[in-house]
Parts: sequence; structure tokens; C-alpha cells
Amino acid sequence: MTGIDKHWPLFPRLVPIPKIFHCLEHDGPFRNCLQCGIDLLHADRYLIERVFKGREPIVEYAMCSSCVEDASAELSAESLENVRKYFLENVELQSRVDRLRPLAEQDDVSPWLSECLFTGLAADDCQERQVCGWFEGDRLRLDFAPFMLSGKAIEAISEQLSEQTRGWMEDFVGNNFGLPSEFCDDPSLMPLLI
Ligand SMILES: [Zn+2]
Repeated sequence: MTGIDKHWPLFPRLVPIPKIFHCLEHDGPFRNCLQCGIDLLHADRYLIERVFKGREPIVEYAMCSSCVEDASAELSAESLENVRKYFLENVELQSRVDRLRPLAEQDDVSPWLSECLFTGLAADDCQERQVCGWFEGDRLRLDFAPFMLSGKAIEAISEQLSEQTRGWMEDFVGNNFGLPSEFCDDPSLMPLLI
């Protein structure tokens, strides 16, 4: 994720995958990469992103690291740089470290997801929100990620993207999830793909 994990000082750990990252379709862990279909248990690393409206998951996918790299290559260099800068300027990294450090030995990941990375808004107060994390086999990797972004934060991030990148993302969402275009007009619901 935009290189911000390099600034994370706590030692990463692997923990069992919590239910919030389970796949609605299988009522259990995600099994395959959205793009290439590879069996994720045998993938090197993979990303899961789930978008919620209220309590309902409305978009969810898992993608292996090489497909994530391919997808990032489709995004304009300008967009990636803008988002990276936006992260570094707006995420209160130190307060996140201070809050999570005492909890870093627990397997409960809910404190990682309880407030928006940017706005600090509590998960229960978010109409729309998304959660992202990186996984290895049947484990969640606990370091800077996983994190939660409120709909407001997603909206602000999407303003950092070039027209070209936004267009590519809308096509990606349309092709993979078959969502109507009105959905794409609401940036607070767009999966971030970065
Ligand atoms: Zn893949």
C-alpha cells in the first residue's frame, strides 16, 4: 500500500483470518484470486478488500500480489504519487502506532479496524466503509495494515486520482462486479485498488 508500511515500526505478525475478511459467497475464507483464479492458500501474498454499506458487504474481492502489481501498473504514476503523498500528509501514523503498540501481541484485529485511518471516525458511525488487509495462506498479516477507510476518506482519496485512473477503476468495477454506473458515481463506495 503506497509504501507507507515502510514507516511502520512494529514487528509484523501473522494471525488467524478474522470473520470480517471472510467471503460472503463461501461463508469462509476467500479461495481464489479475482483476476487469475490462483488458489490463494498457495499464493505468496494476497490482498482482500471489502466495501460495506451499513452492515452489508457490497463489493469484496481477493487478489494475489502479482495481479495487484499488474493492476497498479494500470494506474497513472501521477495518481500513485498523489495518493502516496496524501497518505503521508494525512495519516497520523504516530498516534496509530501509540494506540496499537500495546495490542500488538493479541490476535484480535478489531482495534486495527475500529476507526478510519484518515478521519478517525468510528466504524459504527460510518455509513460506508471499507477494510483492506494483506494475507499469507490462511493468515492475516498484522503490521500497518489491516485498516479501515470511511466513505469520506475514500471520497477524498479518489479526488487525488487522475481522470485516466478513475476511468480505469470504474471499468474494473463494472467488469468484475457488474455494478451499475450510478454506483461508480458515488466515490464513497469505490473499492480503492491501490
Ligand atoms: Zn492473481
